[in-house]
Parts: sequence; structure tokens; C-alpha cells
Amino acid sequence: MTAPRLRGAFVWVFGALIIIASMGFHQAAHAQASHEPRASISDLQKQFSLSGTWRFKAGDNPAWAAPDFDDSLWDSKPIPGRWPAGGYPESGQVGWYRLTVKLLADGGFGPLDDSHLALLAGKITSAFEAYAGGYLLGGAGKLPPLAESDYDRIQVFQIPESAVTPDGRLVLALRVWGGDLTLVKAWGAGPYQSSFVLGGHEDLMLSGLVVKQVPGLLICVLFIGFGFYHLYLYRRNPQLNNCLWFGIMAINVAVYGFMLTQWKYAFDFSFITLKKIEFGSLYVFPAVVIQMLWGLLDTKIERWLKGYQVIFLLLAALVVSIPGLDIHVATLGVFQLLILPLMVLVAALEFRKVREGNKEAKTVFFGLLIFAATCVNDLLIDFAQVDTRRLMPFGFFAIMISMGVSLANKFTASLSQLEREVAERTFELSAANERLEAVARMDPLTHILNRRGFADAAQNEIQRVFRGSKPFSLVLMDIDHFKRFNDSYGHAGGDHILVRVTAMLRERIRDIDRIARWGGEEFILLLPETDEAAAGALAEKLRVAVSENYFEYEDKRLAIALTFGVSAYRKGDSFDACVAQADAAMYRGKETGRNKVVLHGGSDSPRVNHPTHGFNSQ
Ligand code: GH3
Ligand code: MG
Ligand code: MG
Repeated sequence: MTAPRLRGAFVWVFGALIIIASMGFHQAAHAQASHEPRASISDLQKQFSLSGTWRFKAGDNPAWAAPDFDDSLWDSKPIPGRWPAGGYPESGQVGWYRLTVKLLADGGFGPLDDSHLALLAGKITSAFEAYAGGYLLGGAGKLPPLAESDYDRIQVFQIPESAVTPDGRLVLALRVWGGDLTLVKAWGAGPYQSSFVLGGHEDLMLSGLVVKQVPGLLICVLFIGFGFYHLYLYRRNPQLNNCLWFGIMAINVAVYGFMLTQWKYAFDFSFITLKKIEFGSLYVFPAVVIQMLWGLLDTKIERWLKGYQVIFLLLAALVVSIPGLDIHVATLGVFQLLILPLMVLVAALEFRKVREGNKEAKTVFFGLLIFAATCVNDLLIDFAQVDTRRLMPFGFFAIMISMGVSLANKFTASLSQLEREVAERTFELSAANERLEAVARMDPLTHILNRRGFADAAQNEIQRVFRGSKPFSLVLMDIDHFKRFNDSYGHAGGDHILVRVTAMLRERIRDIDRIARWGGEEFILLLPETDEAAAGALAEKLRVAVSENYFEYEDKRLAIALTFGVSAYRKGDSFDACVAQADAAMYRGKETGRNKVVLHGGSDSPRVNHPTHGFNSQ
């Protein structure tokens, strides 16, 4: 793992730990409130926490709302806090909470900075009514006999001034229905979560229903953005499977997270529908995580594991399709039990992949660790009735972030791998091109330059002349009566002669001279810094050497001769013009008997007499 990557992972782990720790402190602070709280007006303006011990009695009696009712013999019970498993069946799962707040203000209770006194009530399972000074403030859900659950709402109720007694006492009462027996048995009931606060109405509305709900909304919006962005990436390039699953996972988490905020009430869905969306998205999550994590770690999802995913999807389908809340209770335990083996599976896969040196496995490790810790915390809440806050949303967050980081790393890695491969291919391609270029300049039979290669070499030489070098000369030569030779000895014999003649010519020229095969049985020489006379002398030497040589071929000794045309390059002429002059000279040689050297220039040409053929010049 690289250093920045490690640092990034630690930042996330620390962030998550700080959040978890701060929630712990919050919890501890709540337990401080005293039995007979006293609040001054200034307290109320700051908000006055009602978390702590309230009076409690199982049963139901409308008279218990009255401020002058004596509750001193009632039990004590903490808020927030859940009822014992099983609840209070003998009283139809109904119980009352009462709290008397002594308001320390002379002359009773007046308006709070133009804002009315209000009660913020947190989440209470499964329905409740809130009273102040005997007045019904409002509630959530419906108590028996209607018995309708609605237990995730955080609400602010205005308290009428007349609710406060002349001596400054405010008696608050909550009439709570725990819910169906199955639900109460499964996870208890009562005012189970979030705060209960007294304060100014506007202030509570703003802080409790807006400010505190903003971070949750922002995270959801962020994840939705994340999600759709990755789906978009996948649409652009369907090979990016990981993007597809990351996108689905992000949206999945966003939906689940949204269902944990109060913003869900902005939609006009019934409580049961909202719960079904919440549970459905929760149950789908492990299936998506398997898809994502296994893909990220390049591991095949075996058949049995696919079956495991299908079970989670089935649970989600059951919750969504079967009406009522009972199916949620019935499936949650199964879901939580199924999560445990998945944790073992993930741990085993992680362990194996980290040992294999898989970078992504190292990156997601911290996220998975936090997620596992939050899962254990939440399982303890449900199975051991431990009263801590549910942390799984933070676990989701950690897992998402770690996978997001890992996905980005993987992306970057594959991108640079791609770049490396492209560079390699480009290099190979240009090498191949160079080889091809070289081949295109060579004659395959004689392995000397062909016409094209020679023309390029000549252009270089012309440029040298322009930079001040002495001019060069060209010698063009053609084998005499080669057609006849081919006819007599076959094409292979002709080829043999071409190769042998090439060798003889090459042996007799300087290193700086260039030789090429100009056409079928024609050769050409470029002799740098050589005038026509010197070139003619060399040509004569070559003529003699070839014509006096006998070429061995299939037990025969064969002779051939060449006719030469020589031309010096004159500054300012084109290469083609120079070749044409050499060609014209050679043509004259052919016409006047062959096996001879003819110079293009006139008087400055050497005059060499040859015993048999003579030496011509123009
Ligand atoms: P001249 O003395 O006038 O040059 O007569 P020539 O027969 O050499 O001239 P011509 O141009 O009529 O014939 C050229 C012959 O060279 C024709 C062809 O058979 C032969 N030839 C050209 N290229 C090759 C080759 O690559 N291999 C072989 N074996 N023969 C070739
Ligand atoms: Mg010929
Ligand atoms: Mg020819």
C-alpha cells in the first residue's frame, strides 16, 4: 500500500471513530438529567433537555394526564429507553410517562422572545400522545383500539401558556402504545431514540427538524450523486462492471440513509410504505456488497454465493410484497443471522487477498472493519437489548468510502497500465515501421539498395554538395545480352549471375561509395567527391574485372560483360537529370558495340583504349 493511500485510510478511520465517540458522549450527557428538573426561562431559551428519568406506569387512564395527579408511587424509567422484551401485555402494551418541570420564573411563565413554549418529542414506538398540563398536544400513530404504528417521527408540539400552573409547574405526560406483541417481543418499545427537549417553538423547529436533519440529507444527496455518476460511467463504458455495482450500492445506501432521516416525511407515503422501502433497501445491501467487493477483488462469485445473494433479495421481496409490519419483524432476525456468516466470508476473502498482496483488499480493510463494528453494535441492541445508538448507517458510510477510494485506485492503476501498454505497442510499431522502411529500400535478391533507397542516398549527397563538398559522379551499368543469357541458362542462372556481379562490384568500390540495383540487370554507383574522369577509370576497372571473370554455374564456366555510362553531377542539376545523362552515355555504349565505358562529358573524359572493344567518350 502506498503512503498516501494509507494516510487516506487512516483519515477515514479516525473520522468514523470521532463520530462514534461523540455519539457516545452525547448519550452519556443525556443520562445526567435529574428526577425533578428545574428549568429557568433562560434555560428554555437555550433548550432544556428532558432526557433522564421520568415516572412510569403500565396501564391506561385518561386521568393520568392531569397536572395534579400524584405520581409519586409510580416506577422510574429512563427516556430515551426501551421497554423490556415482551413489554406490558397485561395492560395491552400501553403505559404512561410523566415528568414535572419546575419553571423558575417570577409570576409564572411568559412568552419566550415572541416564541411559544414547545416540546420536541423524539422517536417513540409504536404510537403515542403527548400532554402538557392536562392538554393533549398531539402525537404520532394511533393508540388502541385503532392501533396504528408511526414511530420514526420527531415532532415539535406547542405548549399553551395555560398548561403551566400559577406556581410555575409544568406537568408533561406521554401516553405510549408499544405496538403489536410480535414487535414488542422482537425489539422492545417505548421512547427508544433521539432527544426530548423543552424550548422555544421556533428554535426547536429550526434546530430539531431542520439543522439536525441537514447532515443526513447532505450525505444522501452526496451518495445519490456518487451513484448516478458511476452508473453514467458504466453507461459510457459497459466494461466497467465495478462502476455499475458501486453506483447501485451508493444509491442503495442513499435510499436507506434517507429513510433514517425525517426528510422522508416530505413524501406523501404511509408509515408502512416508508418502512417497507427502508427494510427493502437494507436487505438488498449485502447482495450488492458481495457483487461489488468480489468484483473489486477480482474474485469469481461461486454458485452457492449467488444463492446466498438471492436469499437477501428474497427477503427484500418478501418485506416489500407482504402487507403489514409483522413481516419486518419476522425477517429482521433472519437477516441479522445471515449477516454473520457473510462477515466471516468477507473476512476470509479479505485475509486471502491481503496475503496475495491485493492492493484493493488493503484499502477496503478499514472500511469493512468499521462496518463490522457497527453491525456488532446494532446486533447487540436487538439481541442483548443494549441501549446504545444504532451505528450501521455510519458503517455503510465507511464501507462506501473505502470502496470508492479503492475503485478510484483501481481505475488509476488500470489507466497507467493501459498507458504503459500503449507506450510499448507504439515503440514496437515504430521499430516495425523502421524495419519495413529499411526493407522497402533494399533489393531482396542482391541485398543492396533498390532504386528508391538509392534516390534517397543521392539526395543526401546532393545536399552535401550544396554545403560545399566536391561533386559526385554516377556510374550506370547494364549487363549485355542478358536476355539471351537467361534464355540459355535459365532464370535461376541469371539470378546467380546478378548476385555474383553484385559481389564483384561491392568488392571493388570504397566504403563511402553507394551501390544499388537500378532495374532488372542494371546497377548504379554513386561515387562521392569523384569527378567524371576518376569515375570512368573505376568503371573501366570494373568492366575489365567482370568481363575477364568466369562465373561458375552448374559445372559450367560462364562469361558476361557490362556496358557503362558515366556522368558527373553538376551543382544545380537535378538527380534525375544526372541519371538521364549517365543513361544516355550507356545507351551510346550499347549502340556502339557494348562492353565499354562511355563518359557523358566531353574533353575532360579519360581516353582509355581497350584492346577488344575500344573506349568511347562523348
Ligand atoms: P542489352 O545488351 O541490350 O541490354 O540486352 P538485354 O537482353 O540485356 O536487354 P533487355 O532489356 O532486352 O533484356 C533484359 C533482360 O534481363 C530481360 C530479363 O529476362 C532479364 N532480367 C531482368 N531482371 C532479371 C532478374 O531479376 N533475374 C533474371 N534472371 N533475369 C532478369
Ligand atoms: Mg541488358
Ligand atoms: Mg536492361
